[in-house]
Amino acid sequence: MRETVLYQVQAIPEKRLIDVKCTIPNPDPLGQRVLLPAWIPGSYLIRNFSGHIVTLQAYDHEQVVPVQMLDKNTWFCGPTCGPLVVHYQVHAYDLTPRGAHVDSTHAFFNGSRVFLQVCGQEEAAVHIEIIAPFDPKYHHWRVATSLERVGAESFSFGLYQARHYEDLIDHPVEMGEFEVFSFEVVEVVHDLVVIGKHRADINRLKTDLSCLCEYHIRFFGVPAPMKKYTFLLTVLNDGYGGLEHCSSSVIHCKRAHLPKFNDIKVSDGYRTLLGLLSHEYFHAWNVKCIKPSAFSPYHLTCENYTRQLWIFEGITSYYDELALVRTKRISKENYLELLGQLCTRVYSTPGRFKQTLEQASFEAWIKFYRPDENSLNATISYYTKGALVALALDLLLRHETNNQCSLDQVMQVVWQRFGMTRQGLPEEYFERIVEEVSGCRLKDFFDRTLRSTEDFLIAPYLEKVGIVLNIFSASSMEEVGGRKPMDLLERPLLEVKLKPGTSDVHLACVFEGSAAEMAGLAPGDIIIAVNGFRVDRVHFESVIAHYAVGEEVLLHVFRRDILMTFKVVLRSGWLHTYVLATASSLTEQQRVLLQSWLNCDIS
Ligand SMILES: [Zn+2]
Repeated sequence: MRETVLYQVQAIPEKRLIDVKCTIPNPDPLGQRVLLPAWIPGSYLIRNFSGHIVTLQAYDHEQVVPVQMLDKNTWFCGPTCGPLVVHYQVHAYDLTPRGAHVDSTHAFFNGSRVFLQVCGQEEAAVHIEIIAPFDPKYHHWRVATSLERVGAESFSFGLYQARHYEDLIDHPVEMGEFEVFSFEVVEVVHDLVVIGKHRADINRLKTDLSCLCEYHIRFFGVPAPMKKYTFLLTVLNDGYGGLEHCSSSVIHCKRAHLPKFNDIKVSDGYRTLLGLLSHEYFHAWNVKCIKPSAFSPYHLTCENYTRQLWIFEGITSYYDELALVRTKRISKENYLELLGQLCTRVYSTPGRFKQTLEQASFEAWIKFYRPDENSLNATISYYTKGALVALALDLLLRHETNNQCSLDQVMQVVWQRFGMTRQGLPEEYFERIVEEVSGCRLKDFFDRTLRSTEDFLIAPYLEKVGIVLNIFSASSMEEVGGRKPMDLLERPLLEVKLKPGTSDVHLACVFEGSAAEMAGLAPGDIIIAVNGFRVDRVHFESVIAHYAVGEEVLLHVFRRDILMTFKVVLRSGWLHTYVLATASSLTEQQRVLLQSWLNCDIS
């Protein structure tokens, strides 16, 4: 008799279902509890995956076993004589990196969506049999996953295994048609699995990706924590996002962001894609091995609160793009443009005056993952402000220690103490380690950047490495920053965010303190005319641009189904674009610091 828990999983493409049979050889003789996680590590929101279970029955070898739901995540199966089988079906139609999605083109799932946890047996090894869909027309499908194979051939249906439940749910599975591009760096075999139609130069992507992987492995030190790594890259018409796992990641990208054949430049889209791949890969160390204590172990049925997400997402966001310039995938100027965009995002967010970086982390469960029309006014992202603080800290350490210490060494020490040992990082330890490794006293720095809503200015830190921060008036409400505007004209702007993906001038957010807010405009309003002239999304900004700063315009607006008018005095606004450039002359110290920070020659 097989002693380990066995999960037999089979997609039913036409029904968008995943069928699972969980066989428990040694159930609790008094009755067995099973539960499904309420959230997926890496995405900090209670999602109650049990809501997607359509049917669930239990039986032993003789008869049906009664099942009772105990709470929203947990079921109780009555006492049995012998092995217990729990048979259930999961609706899977969420095409996101954190989701599960099945249709006639493929099947994809994250384990936390489909694998019931057998209470009391969480630490035991498990087997997983991945079975081809019943209909022979799917029998050419292959399987891509970082789960360890037992009987299954490479990329095939068959038997896999996991060390315990937490390991089981850390290996997403893709079934269908896909291409595989493999490469080996520093004794780690990497499979780049490309899912979806495209006409891209994937070999170029493979070369760039292998440089980034090698950089990150050597950054933390050989050997890497994984022997194999799988990138599950899904190509979509419109998609962006990723989710990290210990030895794989799920990435969704826009088809247009893939590199074209014979194109030697790095397009903005391709740069975004490389940054995303770099980000998820860096997480294999920073959040999958180095974790906050609150995640060690994960508590999968409730919120796991930590004030440290800026370390895990902000520092990762800092290094994902820094690795692009250090490995020479992009130029120094290109990297400075990315930092200009980062500054523009942070300094265009009024919410930075309301929420500290530590609060942003702690409140992720109720705010960051539940954005609404007021989020920009009330919250700050621990990704973007966290990356800006990481940048400041890195440059500060380099300057204060005369280039003897940097954030690189800090992360390496954190890796050795908390990553290699898999000990959770207690809430206050990171700051202590930075002070210990650098010898600098940084209490004021951390109080100001992590625990205060006072504005935190990046220019003095950039100056330490000879980078100048220039600030210009935004030329558009959709300003992304990083590039000097074509002209320096003062443009009237409405200081609102428009809803994407619609041809209407639909207000998604009205910035606090803006002329639009003072005039009474509100999120959800649709502007249909300016001074009697009809406007749509495409022409709205050019129509506004015909007026002068200080002029009053009459807006016709639908609020719900009521036509209303508002008078707004146009201002040039506080929206700005931030542009970084190397200073025209550098001191010797600035030149040395800049060179070692970006790994490039500065003449
Ligand atoms: Zn991340």
